[in-house]
Amino acid sequence: MKASQKPHETHTTTPTTLFKIYSRSRSRRSSKPRLRPKLTYRMPVVNRERDRIQAHASRLGSDPRLCGLRNIGNTCFMNSVIQCLSHTQELTRFLRSQHGTRSSSTKDQQILHEFAKLIQEMWTPNVHTMTPMELKRAFSTKHRMYSDYNQQDAQEFLRFFLDSLHSALNTGVKGETLNIDDNLSDNKKADLTWEWYTRHENSLVRDLFVGQLKSTLKCTTCGNTSVTFDPFWDLSVPLPSSSRCKLEACLDLFIREEVLDGDEMPTCAKCKTRRKCTKSFTIQRFPKYLVIHLKRFSETRWSKLSNIVEFPTSDRELNMGSYGANSNSNVHYSLYAISNHMGSTAGGHYVALCKHPISRKWHEFNDNIVSDALCENHLVSSSAYILFYERA
Ligand SMILES: [Zn+2]
Repeated sequence: MKASQKPHETHTTTPTTLFKIYSRSRSRRSSKPRLRPKLTYRMPVVNRERDRIQAHASRLGSDPRLCGLRNIGNTCFMNSVIQCLSHTQELTRFLRSQHGTRSSSTKDQQILHEFAKLIQEMWTPNVHTMTPMELKRAFSTKHRMYSDYNQQDAQEFLRFFLDSLHSALNTGVKGETLNIDDNLSDNKKADLTWEWYTRHENSLVRDLFVGQLKSTLKCTTCGNTSVTFDPFWDLSVPLPSSSRCKLEACLDLFIREEVLDGDEMPTCAKCKTRRKCTKSFTIQRFPKYLVIHLKRFSETRWSKLSNIVEFPTSDRELNMGSYGANSNSNVHYSLYAISNHMGSTAGGHYVALCKHPISRKWHEFNDNIVSDALCENHLVSSSAYILFYERA
């Protein structure tokens, strides 16, 4: 994928695009690049805060394993995402086992190498702050739009970053085309599509983060339905107009039936002509780690929604069962990290809230400043932007 090419621009429903990483978004404008304002914000150095956290670090004793990341010029978006990924236990376990990773041939392998080095340092006893300079440099070499020091969108960064990690580790074999008998059952089609996809895209990163979405298109004239199955790396969910809602309301909006009419009319395979159709989604295959992106930034206007979305924060509290393609009431997830965006589109700042894998306590990672343990009641806020859930 070229640096200038955004993952979500590549989305169509033809099988060849299953190679690409994209987020399943309800946007009808998904063919256009999203323009978001470049945010400029310089994090003030607050000595009082730094002193406080240093005092706190010494209180925690010799092995707190709470490592902040220095801001090297509007890099809070990156720091926030790295902290969330660092608290993704299976990914970090893998990266920490990668001893002696050599600097490698491709740009993606270089990114993986620098990321593994950083994660290993971050989880070393008595390391309280790291500077992710080499990782930033390696990433910018591949993705040129990150080579300056402008603020960027954390979710876009996450997608590019996971794409690079996946590409570095991918042992998949390309070239085979997907042929599926239309008479097979939906579940059989889903399995064959998934097997085909995983033969092409085979990495630990895909194992951890990718799920499969089922989209059903129904002709309003003849009633013919057709299904397609696409991989997703995160769910990009819209926010309802109310100022306060539950996460389920966003997920309901995401899967709700949509009417494709006018210019958007698809061609019905039975009528052999363009027809008004309905389209709806369900989740065919749930990922190990479910990333939910709250679409706070508008695509048409440079504005941000500050709705409060009440999302489940306790262990196993999120049940995705009702969004599944097959009846399964037992799809529980536990929240373990949040990327928060504070402020407006004109200026903003990212922090991460992450649950420590051993103490099970939540901490705020504000660049190099790591907070004391937070109360779980304080996790939901109008700043929550990307939610990271682990399947329980
Ligand atoms: Zn039809």
